[in-house]
Amino acid sequence: MEKKINLRLFFMGFFSMVLTTVLLVGLFHGTMERAARREVKQMTDFLAKACPSSDDVAELMRFEEEEKRMTLIAADGTVLYDSFVDASEMENHKDRQEVKDALEIGVGESNRQSVTFNHYSYYYALRLPDGSVLRVGTEMEGLLDGFRDTLPSLALVLCCMSILSLLVSRLLTKKLVGKLQDMIWHMDGKQGQVPREMLPLAQAMKAYQQKKEEGEKWRQQFTANVSHELKTPLTSISGYAEMMESGMVQEGDIKTFAGKIHREAGRLIMLINDILELSKLDEPGELGPVEQVDVLRLARDTVEMLSMKAEQYQVQLRLSGNGAFVRGNKTMLGEVLYNLCDNAIRYNKPGGYVQVDVSVAEEQPVIVVKDNGIGIPLESQERIFERFYRVDNSRSKATGGTGLGLAIVKHIVLRHGGTIEVESKEGGPTKMKVIFPPQQEPKEAAKQVKKKEGTA
Ligand code: ATP
Ligand code: MG
Repeated sequence: MEKKINLRLFFMGFFSMVLTTVLLVGLFHGTMERAARREVKQMTDFLAKACPSSDDVAELMRFEEEEKRMTLIAADGTVLYDSFVDASEMENHKDRQEVKDALEIGVGESNRQSVTFNHYSYYYALRLPDGSVLRVGTEMEGLLDGFRDTLPSLALVLCCMSILSLLVSRLLTKKLVGKLQDMIWHMDGKQGQVPREMLPLAQAMKAYQQKKEEGEKWRQQFTANVSHELKTPLTSISGYAEMMESGMVQEGDIKTFAGKIHREAGRLIMLINDILELSKLDEPGELGPVEQVDVLRLARDTVEMLSMKAEQYQVQLRLSGNGAFVRGNKTMLGEVLYNLCDNAIRYNKPGGYVQVDVSVAEEQPVIVVKDNGIGIPLESQERIFERFYRVDNSRSKATGGTGLGLAIVKHIVLRHGGTIEVESKEGGPTKMKVIFPPQQEPKEAAKQVKKKEGTA
């Protein structure tokens, strides 16, 4: 790993150096080319002014120089004078691009291989008042000659820089690996060794690790709880069955024992259903079928469903409110209502009441389930939403509770974007309040539902 980082850093340094050199040479060459062209143009302009006629050859010759080639061409293309070559030996120049353009529009330029010298050259031509053409050219290839001379020293510099880059990358790698090592120490709980600049990263990694560990612990705890909860009724069932099998139960008691087994088996089924429901809710993704749910109607159905139980517990069950519509999964929302009402009945006192209210407050659908039952002590109020948590184990179990009801409720509410609040004290009363987010165009939705009901 250290070697890899080292090598990568070195190559990064090396390639950026080579790239910079190549780019610089290219850039420099381009600038020089532009300057050379400008110079040729300026010289042509000057010569055209100084020697404005084809008769001024002698005057023109005074400006001869080594780097620039001057040519004077008659209107018919005959070369009258050339500073590099004997004009009489030169072919007609009428077809040369720059000459052609100059004859036609007064000015012409071209970048091409010189037919005469086989060099890459730049030409600029101007038409003189008498119709002849004055052309100045310069070789472009010579521009890189300067670089060619400096190439050996450039290579040497590159070599030195490479060695330097190798050393620097080695140093940097050592430092980096050292810092990572420090960070790992920090994550292991050895404080004070992590470099300051790496502290945020180290802290984030540590938090992530802690969260992962907590999740792991929580899962283990849940599995242990599930196993324990499953084991209890199964042990009872097994015990009763064993007693019946060994003939320890008298004929007349068999019915009682069968009833006990039946009850325990029922508890098991309920528990398994709740666990399945929770694991379904744990999975991210769709909620299943989603629709516009008339919550008041759902509450009415729930109250009806629980009326027998309420009677049995001698609790009065009441429903009020103007109603509300929530976009969501009807079965799940029904479960929220059922669980809350079921708790309010079960943890009540004979002669008590349960008040269910469904309304909209500040555009938010609200469900309130209030009871004047036994209440929830302050220290338990946070925990009642935990899986398997029961304030009074014996009472919950005696009434068939699994301790998963409110965990499921909270999950469903959260999945619908809502919140749940509890207000209670030991000895009661208790108020459970579910608040959903504002629904889109509730009136429109209500209308739609009414229409549907009308057609149904
Ligand atoms: P389940 O709902 O799965 O049958 P459960 O009722 O015991 O079992 P939860 O609904 O999660 O489980 O409730 C957790 C605990 O919170 C209950 O055991 C009970 O102690 C307490 N609790 C819930 N609602 C009320 C209430 N309205 N009044 C008093 N205590 C309550
Ligand atoms: Mg419950």
